[in-house]
Amino acid sequence: MWRATVLTLFPDMFPGPLGQSLAGKALAAGLWQLDAVDIRAHATDKHRTVDDTPAGGGPGMVMKADVLARAIDATLGAGDARPRLLMSPRGIPLTQARVAALARGGGALILCGRFEGVDERVVEARALEEVSVGDYVLSGGEIAAMALIDACVRLLPGVMGEEASGAEESFAEGLLEYPQYTRPQAFEGRAIPEVLVSGDHGKVAAWRRAEAERLTRERRPDLWAAYAGLSQAALADTHAVILADADGIIRVWSPGAEKLLGYGAATAIGQPLDLIVPPDYRERHWAGFRAAVANRNSKYPDAAANIPVRCRDGRVLRFPGRLIFLRDALERAVGAMAIFVADDGSADPPLPNL
Ligand code: SAH
Repeated sequence: MWRATVLTLFPDMFPGPLGQSLAGKALAAGLWQLDAVDIRAHATDKHRTVDDTPAGGGPGMVMKADVLARAIDATLGAGDARPRLLMSPRGIPLTQARVAALARGGGALILCGRFEGVDERVVEARALEEVSVGDYVLSGGEIAAMALIDACVRLLPGVMGEEASGAEESFAEGLLEYPQYTRPQAFEGRAIPEVLVSGDHGKVAAWRRAEAERLTRERRPDLWAAYAGLSQAALADTHAVILADADGIIRVWSPGAEKLLGYGAATAIGQPLDLIVPPDYRERHWAGFRAAVANRNSKYPDAAANIPVRCRDGRVLRFPGRLIFLRDALERAVGAMAIFVADDGSADPPLPNL
C-alpha cells in the first residue's frame, strides 16, 4: 500500500486536510496510509532539544542533524526503499510528472523543516532529496508535505472517481487545462461557449485543446516552449531559439539566442521582433508574418534559409536557420519560432528535432 511517513515537530497537524474529502475518504478506505512521526521524540537530552543556533551566526535556529538522523533511522525499516524527501524551498520544484512517479512507487518518507531549516549534514548523510512546492517561503514543511501527499494520493488507483479525470487536466500533457463550465446556461449575462453545448464531440475536443494552448501560451511561456518541442534546442547554446506570439512579440529567448545575438532574455522578451529584424527588411518581414498569421487552414511553408538578423552590436548577420509557424488545433497561427544555428564551421549543424 502507498505509505506516506511524515517526520515533523507538529504531528498533530496530520492528517488535517488530508483527512477530508477525496484523500480523507481514501485514507478511511485503506487505499493509502499516513504516519506522522514526532521528531521531538527522538531528542535525547532532558529538554528534548531539536534545534540550535546557526554555526557562523545569524538569526533563527537550525534543526539538529543528530536528532533528525535518529528519527529517520528509527522510522525507516530495513529494506525500505521509498524516496526520502526533505521539503525545502531550495529543492527541485515539484511537478506533476514527479508526483505521478511518486504515486507509482511505494510512497515516501517526508521530512518537514521548521525554523531556518535543517543541518546540511543530515541531508548528505541520509541522501535526502530536497523538494520545493514553489518559489516562496513557508514557515514549515508540513503544508508543503500535505500538498505533495495530496497530489500523489489523488492519482492512486481507486481514489479518483473516474479513471480518466486525471488524464486531461492541467500539466498532464504539458498544457494548462481549458476553462470549465456547468449549468446554468446563463450566469449574470454570460453564456457557456456555444461549442460546449453543441453536442459535437470533435468540435468540443478541438475547442478545449485550442483554449488549453491559448492559456498556456499566455500564462506560462516556459511550459509553452517545452510543449512546442523547444526544450532540448532551447537549452543548447549552439542554437538560438526564439518564439514570438501571433502579434510578433518575443515570448521565448533561449540562452543560445543571447549568445548569438547579444541581447539577454530580460531585454528581449516582451519586445517586438523589430529588435532583431534589420530595418531595411522590416516591411517584408511584417508583410510575410501577418500573411502567415492570417492564413488559417493553410500551411505557410516553413522557411529554411539564411535569415538576416540584427545583433545587439548593430551587425547584421545571416545565420542558417528555420522559421516555423506554430498553429493550434484550430489551425490558427499562434506564433512563430525561429531557430538559428551558430555558424561554427561544422558541416552539418544539428537542427533540433521538432
Ligand atoms: N531559511 C530557509 C527557509 C526555511 S523555511 C531558506 O531560506 O531556504 C522553514 C521550512 O519550511 C523549510 O525547512 C522547509 O521544510 C519548509 N518550506 C518553506 N518553504 C518551502 C517551499 N517553498 N517548499 C517546500 N518546503 C518549504
